[in-house]
Amino acid sequence: MKAIQITHSQELNIVELPQPAQPGEGEVLLRLSYVGFCGSDINTFMGRNTMALNPVIPGHEVGAVIEAVGAGVPETLKPGMVVTCNPYTNCGKCASCRNQRVNACQYNETLGVQRNGAMKEYIVLPWEKIIPAGSLTPKVTALVEPMSVGFHAVSRAQVTDIDVVMVIGCGMVGMGAIVRSVMRGATVIAADIDDEKLALAKKMGATYTLNTKTEDAHQRLSEMTNGFGPDVVIEAVGSVPTYQMAINEVAFTGRVACIGYAKSEVSFQTKYFVQKELDIRGSRNAQPSDFRAVIRYLERGTCPVDALITKVIKPEEALETMRWWSENPGKVFRILVEF
Ligand SMILES: [Zn+2]
Ligand SMILES: [Zn+2]
Repeated sequence: MKAIQITHSQELNIVELPQPAQPGEGEVLLRLSYVGFCGSDINTFMGRNTMALNPVIPGHEVGAVIEAVGAGVPETLKPGMVVTCNPYTNCGKCASCRNQRVNACQYNETLGVQRNGAMKEYIVLPWEKIIPAGSLTPKVTALVEPMSVGFHAVSRAQVTDIDVVMVIGCGMVGMGAIVRSVMRGATVIAADIDDEKLALAKKMGATYTLNTKTEDAHQRLSEMTNGFGPDVVIEAVGSVPTYQMAINEVAFTGRVACIGYAKSEVSFQTKYFVQKELDIRGSRNAQPSDFRAVIRYLERGTCPVDALITKVIKPEEALETMRWWSENPGKVFRILVEF
């Protein structure tokens, strides 16, 4: 079977792997339909992902169909079902696992990052990692994982209907945070440097948009929030200025949820941590309940999924597409590979 393999040196190959055997006890064999390229995959391609294996088969955003199930797999999982997978592992022994926060396992190995992933025709996974996608098509199902990361940040920030939430960064993960905040009744300010992404954020339910490149962010936020600043800021970029903006602009007694990985150190006015009595919370990956919430949302059929899928490509087009993406980083929501 065909698989996509990335090495750190801007190289990407199609490799031939043996077809997996029938699933063993407790295992499920999936036939991959669509697998999304994540921001972490483009980082791997550009040699900037220090967590990734080298070489690695990327892919953890899965839209698949169950091909076969092994002995001992619950009857709720049947051949022919459309499913996605929880691509993380948890050791069961670290502090996060002890606290049932398995999404933040110290020794997590995400598919396609710390271990080989799903950019191939078939994969065998333990049944516990399989998440039924209800009435979704395999194509839409490939969007579930990145949106669920945004949903999780909204849970971490404990967003309610009386909050004004600023989401910095309107990629797929940020869009997930916008959608979930709107579902919880909050007023949402979408911030980005790309007007096309901001226009789409409005379609996803944001009340206000803010172009942080062309507008005075502090002034506009002050106008939008009667001078208070946003109650919640969700950082979904991972850069020095966006992290600083989150701390500087959040309201007194506000909450900041951090999703982005900044690649360099960030300096802060720590007086704001104290004076504002801030809650600053990391948000990593997603929990199974976040996946289920995204699937229910997408089943409504109101999400403009076509606008979120930038391109659908064949494995053979992956190299030129990754080169194009690395040169046009602002123009991509999701690129799906069709197997
Ligand atoms: Zn991802
Ligand atoms: Zn653990």
